[in-house]
Amino acid sequence: MTDLTPPTTSNFIRTIIDEDNATGKYDGFVHTRFPPEPNGYLHIGHAKSINLNYGLAQDYGGLFNLRFDDTNPEKEEQEYIDAIMEDVRWLGADWDGRLYHASDYFGQLYDWAEQLIKAGKAYVDDLSADEIREYRGTLTEPGKNSPYRERTVEENLDLFRRMRAGEFDEGSRVLRAKIDMASPFIVLRDPVMYRILHAEHPRTGNAWHIYPTYDWAHGQSDSIESITHSICTLEFENNRRLYDWFQEALGIRRSQQIEFARLNLTYTVMSKRKMIRLVKDGYVNGWDDPRFWTIRGLRRRGYTPEAIRLFTDMIGVSKANSLVDYQMLEHAVREDLNVRTSRVMAVLEPLKVVIENYPKGKEDSFDVPSFPQDKSREESRLIPFSREIYIERDDFMEEPIKGYNRLAPGVEVRLMNAYFITCTAVVKDSAGRIVELRATYDPATRGGQSPDGRKVKGTIHWVSAEHALPAEVRLYDRLFIKPNPEEGGEDFIENLNPDSLKVVDAMLEPSLATAVPGDKFQFMRVGYFCVDLDSTADRLVFNRTVSLKDTWAKGK
Ligand code: ATP
Ligand code: MG
Repeated sequence: MTDLTPPTTSNFIRTIIDEDNATGKYDGFVHTRFPPEPNGYLHIGHAKSINLNYGLAQDYGGLFNLRFDDTNPEKEEQEYIDAIMEDVRWLGADWDGRLYHASDYFGQLYDWAEQLIKAGKAYVDDLSADEIREYRGTLTEPGKNSPYRERTVEENLDLFRRMRAGEFDEGSRVLRAKIDMASPFIVLRDPVMYRILHAEHPRTGNAWHIYPTYDWAHGQSDSIESITHSICTLEFENNRRLYDWFQEALGIRRSQQIEFARLNLTYTVMSKRKMIRLVKDGYVNGWDDPRFWTIRGLRRRGYTPEAIRLFTDMIGVSKANSLVDYQMLEHAVREDLNVRTSRVMAVLEPLKVVIENYPKGKEDSFDVPSFPQDKSREESRLIPFSREIYIERDDFMEEPIKGYNRLAPGVEVRLMNAYFITCTAVVKDSAGRIVELRATYDPATRGGQSPDGRKVKGTIHWVSAEHALPAEVRLYDRLFIKPNPEEGGEDFIENLNPDSLKVVDAMLEPSLATAVPGDKFQFMRVGYFCVDLDSTADRLVFNRTVSLKDTWAKGK
């Protein structure tokens, strides 16, 4: 098999790691993590982060952890936890037993919070959420101190312990870091570390009545796990100051937060909240709908982990936000499937052709290589031929337009790997619709070879009608009609593509009878297809992963 792995290209994160290794900052060690919040399913953007973090650990001989950032018990569900693990594993990122949860550290985080209180670096605040926002100031105005900021250590400890014990109502108090209400960085204006939530947590149950914020939990979890390079997306750039402040104030093992640009992809919405809406309101058929850019949607659609890795390598990592064209993703999957798939014949919109000079009841077969793209593979299969075949409806034109090279009355074409045929008559129903063609074949052209140097302009695929396997084929298009579904502040639901799914009754070559869900093929001249989960021996169901060429640009 051709190796599709692109050479490792450098990027600014590698440059940072190389410098750290040169100075011995982490004794030359690289330890990364992927920290999903279990409040939704993983999507192609997460794959970028997973492949980046796992890839760096691999390339530098380091370690990679999977850590659930489960600090928000109200939105988190076990269903998401299970699905995320399955998807990370499927993508090929191996956490090698290092599966952690921020909730594993609730006890340590609590102790560290007391440490900060005792050091005069944290206090319990009774301002309401609205008041805290008001006191925080703006980018141009400094904030002002809370009237509770100067509580004594004893009072703070007492209140904080009672917060933990569940004595107070939600929203009545928070624990805040005591930093600087006039800092030019709003994240440093006494950020909230804990809020009161009388919520049941999927892992810690009812043990806690206070839950740490992202900022308080994240860097400390990194430190506990001895993460060296904590890679996150650009919107956390300012939070890095707080990340560093906490680790320094606690005097714990340091790690380095590095921000990169998140993946934005045309024709998608990447926010979990919006994706949940698409599922809950039934605009897609669940999280694994093949039109969805979730990891499981892409998998069901026929993408492989290698195709996704090729894509994430192609787009690289940078510090500048950009919008990636969906065609890049499709390019990657075509590259991958081109190498790995066998070639078969399938007719998506069948039109019957009766070959009148081919004897009734006669049968013929052709031994055809299955991997013609790969000279190292010798597999082949027998394709049966008989008097009646199906061809693609759009491989025939009764009145061919200029430049049309396929079948037309009186025109000779090659049936791929079989014979030359010439169309002799067109049969129509009472409504004038073409229902059948009549043709003759030239026995001297067996295997599709010209006996006398005679040329035909077109080669078309076909299946023998008698041997054909009927199948349901699902043809997908973009879920949205606009590259930016939220253009001009529109609700993305308005821009759903009503034709994102089209189902056809296709006819396949008989070798596909044994295909099972997940199997992938190139339907020659048509595209890449895979067997869907819904497929059974009685009713084969295929998904179109991607057409052979980009047809979207032509407005299809
Ligand atoms: P939300 O949609 O609520 O903003 P999220 O996508 O940030 O959530 P997380 O579970 O916090 O979800 O993400 C886990 C990790 O994946 C984070 O480190 C985050 O930076 C990264 N990540 C999320 N979306 C993208 C993206 N589009 N491109 C690259 N990395 C991403
Ligand atoms: Mg997030």
